[in-house]
Amino acid sequence: MSSGVITASYIGASALFILALNGLSHQETARRGNFYGMLGMGLALFVTIFGLVTDNQFLLIIGMVLGGGIGWVLAKRVEMTHMPELVAILHSLVGLAAVFVGYANALDHGGAALTDIEKTIHAVETYIGILIGAVTVAGSVAAYLKLSAKIGGKPLQLPGRHFLNLGLLIASIWLGFVYVEGAAEGGGLAALVIMTLIALAFGVHMVVAIGGADMPVVVSMLNSYSGWAAAAMGFMLGNDLLIVVGALVGSSGAILSYIMCKAMNRKFINVILGGFGTKPKGDGSAAVVGDAGDVRSIQSEEAADLLKNAKEVMIIPGYGMAVAQAQHTVYEISKKLKSSGVNVRFGIHPVAGRMPGHMNVLLAEAKVPYDIVYEMDEVNEDFPNVDVSVVIGANDIVNPAAQEVPDSPIAGMPVLEPWNGKTTIVLKRGMSTGYAGVDNPLFYKENSRMLFGDAKDSVDAILKHLS
Ligand code: NDP
Repeated sequence: MSSGVITASYIGASALFILALNGLSHQETARRGNFYGMLGMGLALFVTIFGLVTDNQFLLIIGMVLGGGIGWVLAKRVEMTHMPELVAILHSLVGLAAVFVGYANALDHGGAALTDIEKTIHAVETYIGILIGAVTVAGSVAAYLKLSAKIGGKPLQLPGRHFLNLGLLIASIWLGFVYVEGAAEGGGLAALVIMTLIALAFGVHMVVAIGGADMPVVVSMLNSYSGWAAAAMGFMLGNDLLIVVGALVGSSGAILSYIMCKAMNRKFINVILGGFGTKPKGDGSAAVVGDAGDVRSIQSEEAADLLKNAKEVMIIPGYGMAVAQAQHTVYEISKKLKSSGVNVRFGIHPVAGRMPGHMNVLLAEAKVPYDIVYEMDEVNEDFPNVDVSVVIGANDIVNPAAQEVPDSPIAGMPVLEPWNGKTTIVLKRGMSTGYAGVDNPLFYKENSRMLFGDAKDSVDAILKHLS
């Protein structure tokens, strides 16, 4: 394959990736966006394997079939509720690849005689590539363990942790100089290895110090890091496409992190410094602590009656709807209500569920039309006109403590405000807290009714009574 064809194909693949990102920014075009992404990746792989690589193509293809096969099986098997963990662990593979490419690069320059300045550039690329890769791999594994509840969600607050981080940063910069100097003489490997260990420790420390409620930002931040790790690999391998794709992923992940921070009214730097979503400070949440006996419960039949007699209904899905896989029945309920003249809308909080866009994906899977699905900011003002809000397996995203309890760990986080409507029906199994571990005063409000049970069983029963 001529270099012209390779360059043209790479430009084509880059354009397809940009179209993919553009498509993914709207639900209606997301499917098309995914298709462009797959096409771009197919083209990139084909051209790289058959155009750029000259040796060992057979080995590469075996690797691809093996890796692709594992990916296929994982994607087929994974349950929607475990998607965030899968995404986190996949990010770790990008980081791992960057570390491997970096070491291969450090050990073997491909035989070309390099000038001094080339040697320095090569060493800097290698060092930064391994640094970003190691932080990404360790941070992603820690995020995987946290999201899958294999380790606790509470932030680990080591004494003097900010100084520890600063110390690690200074040590990494100093080791960088040592490595670049050493690499010019063909050595420096010890500095590289020590930096890798430091970067791994930093990656773990960074993620375990972040509080449960900030995990949405961590997921998108690691997404961004994996992009920068890929871009670093592009520099090390001299592959323009990898640089472009890495930069696209890195910057879109950074923008997503910014959007997530805004959705939670948090400053990015505070998230990184950690601690949000820890146990409540002072007695901030004590005023709202209660048990099932203090709330007004309701049965599915009464819930169905309330819905039948309503004019405006707002459905607020959360993580529990994903666990119960209740989305299909919820859509059936909304269709039934609509056919009897009730205006039904869905209100989606930006961090509902366990990954960005989690609820949108579930509702799209159930074929809920996009024009009845609204973002938090579009519906929050309307709650005074809502007759019945149905909160399905959601907790943190409808927690008034964010507004009412100044020292609550989630104080300041924007939330959906169903309590401003006439009646709120909350579907959950018991009185457990949500991901952030904070009590929810909504459940004790005068106009709240608790429908206890698995969300799928509850919505099935409501649908039966509506029919
Ligand atoms: P929450 O985790 O706050 O609450 C979910 C509620 O669902 C629980 O209180 C639980 O109560 C209930 N539940 C669980 N299983 C079932 C079931 N089978 N049937 C009925 N109810 C069930 O979820 P939200 O969506 O409200 O908020 C998301 C939280 O996750 C936020 O704190 C967010 O920061 C965090 N997060 C979000 C990420 C993202 O990217 N979107 C990533 C990581 C974390 P009970 O056990 O009593 O039934």
